[in-house]
Amino acid sequence: MSCAIVFCEAGPEGMIEASLRTAGLARRLADELVLCGRELPGVAAEQARQAGARRLVSLAVPGYAPRGIARALWQLAERLGASAVLAAGTDHGNEILAHLGALSDEEMVANCLAVERRGEGYVVTRQRWGGSLLEEAHLEARRALLTVAAEAVAPASSPEPEPVGEESFEPSLDPADLSVTASEQREQAAGVSLASARVVVSGGRGVGGPEGFGVIEEIAEMLGGAVGVSRVVTSLGWRPHREQVGQTGTKVTPELYLACGISGAIQHLAGCQSAKTMVAINTDPEAPIMSRADYAVIGDLAEVLPALRDALAERLRRQ
Ligand SMILES: Cc1cc2nc3c(=O)[nH]c(=O)nc-3n(C[C@H](O)[C@H](O)[C@H](O)COP(=O)(O)OP(=O)(O)OC[C@H]3O[C@@H](n4cnc5c(N)ncnc54)[C@H](O)[C@@H]3O)c2cc1C
Repeated sequence: MSCAIVFCEAGPEGMIEASLRTAGLARRLADELVLCGRELPGVAAEQARQAGARRLVSLAVPGYAPRGIARALWQLAERLGASAVLAAGTDHGNEILAHLGALSDEEMVANCLAVERRGEGYVVTRQRWGGSLLEEAHLEARRALLTVAAEAVAPASSPEPEPVGEESFEPSLDPADLSVTASEQREQAAGVSLASARVVVSGGRGVGGPEGFGVIEEIAEMLGGAVGVSRVVTSLGWRPHREQVGQTGTKVTPELYLACGISGAIQHLAGCQSAKTMVAINTDPEAPIMSRADYAVIGDLAEVLPALRDALAERLRRQ
């Protein structure tokens, strides 16, 4: 029986959406799906069950130690005879699997959208250049090491979830495996995380300056969403880099993406093209974002955003 292991990232509220989407792709690769991670919260078992996993393994690796986690994953994969090890194509997922590739001397393929078994190997479709190019690659490997462009694949959901066995795995680590650890963990800013937000209200250069984000924050809060920005906004120092959406920022998969004063450069769209519905507010009807937007408001943010905020506030008052 073949087995695929997914390394899942988790916070106090559970495993992140990108990891669950990765599990969706992994499930089609092997007979058995095993999810694992560090410091998994209680809700992870139910998430694993819904994703169709039969086992949930807690890796006993102290602290943030990418090489230590990679070593643990490798030992787990050896023990289970896994044919594939996957992680979401986040910074952390790519980092762990790159270490795993180096430790095991196996090739690692990043940003996969689709993977199929072909003979003894795999045919892998993967994103290059921020999603503007799709590459089909043939992978011959004893064990496939893959990260997944999770924003572009559907989340795992099992039609008939079965009970999940929970266990802990104690790897045998070298002191050098723990040489890189986190020295400080900042408290996550309050509110909804950008990567998993169902609504993202994003501002670009058209917002005009840091003070223009006040109304964007208000709208995001009223919609239960998160604030996103274009790279110009972070480069100008108007907002922190962690809010950047795009090729070199966070990839988002919201139900609604509201792009305010954003032109729609390919590098920006690389981070938000999987939004279910995109609404653009822009003075320029010819802006590239219009070719992706489902709805557009051609107008000045200085007029449109306060009107939108007031309309939302009125609707919330009436509810
Ligand atoms: C390697 C590389 C990686 C990159 N990675 C990213 C990335 O991850 N994310 C990202 O965003 N960019 C990224 N970029 C930058 C990207 O190419 C664009 O430069 C950037 O996205 C443009 O930001 P913008 O849309 O805010 O600004 P602009 O392109 O200047 O657009 C501003 C828009 O606001 C509109 N506007 C102006 N005033 C108003 C107003 N009052 N009301 C309404 N609309 C108004 C304008 O019509 C215009 O469409 C990357 C570039 C490179 C080369």
